[in-house]
Amino acid sequence: GGDDLEGHDTEFERRFKIGDKLGQGAFASVYVCIDKDSGEESAVKTINKAAFKSESDYAATMNEIKILEGLDHPNVINLKGWIEGETKIYVVTDLAKGGELFDRIVQKEFYSERDAAIVVQKVAEALLYLHENGIVHRDLKPENILLMDDSDDAELKLADFGFAKAVDTSSETALLTSCGTPAYVAPEILTGKPYSLQVDMWSLGVLTYILLVGYPPFFSENQRDLLRMVKKGAYSFDPQYWDPISDSAKDLISNLLVMDPAKRLSAKEVLEHEWIAQSLDKDITPA
Ligand code: ADP
Ligand code: MG
Repeated sequence: GGDDLEGHDTEFERRFKIGDKLGQGAFASVYVCIDKDSGEESAVKTINKAAFKSESDYAATMNEIKILEGLDHPNVINLKGWIEGETKIYVVTDLAKGGELFDRIVQKEFYSERDAAIVVQKVAEALLYLHENGIVHRDLKPENILLMDDSDDAELKLADFGFAKAVDTSSETALLTSCGTPAYVAPEILTGKPYSLQVDMWSLGVLTYILLVGYPPFFSENQRDLLRMVKKGAYSFDPQYWDPISDSAKDLISNLLVMDPAKRLSAKEVLEHEWIAQSLDKDITPA
């Protein structure tokens, strides 16, 4: 990353042309943007300062930018630069032309074990890197995992560091802020317990589950019921859908959707899990 795009709203407008809309969040809209000189395409998250309700909303945006600036990994979205203007903050990143993993899952309905393992491995690589650098993402879900192109083996980037936070891993200090997305949120966040990096590993368990069967482990039309299910860790492998799936896939998920964060697999342990190795080996013809 870098902050070489300093200037004002006009500075952004002078340098870039805005293209198609890519996404919409609470404060932010994301567009394709084109460098007027080079023709290079990027994505720009434009954050409307008028929507900020307090200094802390502004601080949250700056936190997202500062965290992105410190990161450099093939599976983490790359910050190209940012500009704070009079009315907006512009955050320019690499354009993920393949869109959200969310839409890819909807399209495919579910993934083969091999294709799921490829995704899980890449996300685990991103999490290992973040966690080694003391960053917890706190909003891991398929909407925030972006694909670089439309191919089946597209490179994948973890995005949306809006809830990400630097934690002091040398001490036992923990986080208490409640955040995330109900279907993916770890139970210790909901019960108000101090929590840390392991919350991302719970979300990875939810993601792995969804990839393999196309529906989430915790689901209810009613948000209170959903949160109650997550708090209890109440999920199952319905035989109708899970019978064809390997025991090692179930073993990985069962060791991620663990109530006690200390007993949950780490990113490193996920990468070492036999399901990843096995699934990724399958297409290799023995010599
Ligand atoms: P929010 O904090 O509002 O959720 P995100 O950073 O998640 O904002 O961006 C919202 C959506 O915009 C994403 O889910 C994705 O669809 C799209 N998007 C964000 N960044 C990019 C990018 N670099 N390339 C392509 N699409 C992107
Ligand atoms: Mg998002």
